[in-house]
Amino acid sequence: MKIQAWVQREPAVPPRLETLDLDEPRPDELLVRLEACGVCHTDLFAPRRFPLPAVFGHEGAGVVERVGTTVRGLRPGDRVVLTFGSCGACRNCATGAPAYCMTGHELQFAGARADGSPTLGGDDGPVRGAFFQQSSFATHALATGRNAVRIPDELPLDLAAPLGCGIQTGAGAVLNTLACPAGVSLVVFGVGSVGLSAVMAARLARCEPVIAVDLRPERLAFALELGATHALDARSPELVEEIHDLTGGGARFSLETAGTEQSFRAAIDCLARLGTCGLCTVPRLGEPIEFRPLSILKGRTVTGVLEGSSVPDEFIPYLARLHLDGELPYDRLVSFYDFGDLPRALADAEAGRVVKPVLRM
Ligand SMILES: [Zn+2]
Ligand SMILES: [Zn+2]
Repeated sequence: MKIQAWVQREPAVPPRLETLDLDEPRPDELLVRLEACGVCHTDLFAPRRFPLPAVFGHEGAGVVERVGTTVRGLRPGDRVVLTFGSCGACRNCATGAPAYCMTGHELQFAGARADGSPTLGGDDGPVRGAFFQQSSFATHALATGRNAVRIPDELPLDLAAPLGCGIQTGAGAVLNTLACPAGVSLVVFGVGSVGLSAVMAARLARCEPVIAVDLRPERLAFALELGATHALDARSPELVEEIHDLTGGGARFSLETAGTEQSFRAAIDCLARLGTCGLCTVPRLGEPIEFRPLSILKGRTVTGVLEGSSVPDEFIPYLARLHLDGELPYDRLVSFYDFGDLPRALADAEAGRVVKPVLRM
């Protein structure tokens, strides 16, 4: 079928809205008419990192139009959030850890279905689709039965969209990966959409203190409103000492979402002995950096966090319910844009003018 989609053809040139052909849904797939899609950090660096031309967007939300014969539990008309892909068959999927699916990297980033077949085509050849098994900067997307999650009727689709990645990553890092108990200290480095979601989750988990670290004063003020007990300037030369003072000898948990070398080191050095650091991102997109392994030789743990270790079918409805009950006010992070304004939404996100842009189709 013909769809409208934002096609990225060159890394440094904004995407263009084009008419593409979307493949027919296969037996294990769904066709979703998208109503909204959030812009997440991965969408910002994807054009520099993955083969082009491609359609990005991985926080889609919409209405199911067609359902393949082997998809269970979803019907045309269902309102769904699209999230990350997982195979359902590997040992991590089988043991309830689909965020760490053994083929997750290929499923999110290969630009095709699991069997390598393309889902999108243009006048001059194939376009890489299936980004996070969706490619949702478009009017329609193909998803699989494993990455479409039904949401409560009361939650508007445009607000539901960011549950698919950014919100579940930050909230899940605190509630699932680190599983922070009440009364323990947590330091959140970087308070964008992932960091602020972590702060809100830390308030729910009754962590104490919750220390936000960022470069921007307005973001720190926002973090204090959303549940942080302290806010520290990331540029402070005494940052690590200040955290040790506030936590009585070092933090029990830290979460790194800022992606700089300084925040990477500080997120480990600020910990107490036996403390744990969750990495939601890495400095310089994974380029080598200098690091002293001695800094973890204090019983400290550093653990990578993908998608908040979420089991989407359980965690996304849980977060939706928390939001509807007023306990996870992530709507305060969201700024809406018309579908035609994706380049402006990407530019605003890159410049930090907004926290979580959401496109409305
Ligand atoms: Zn798997
Ligand atoms: Zn994302």
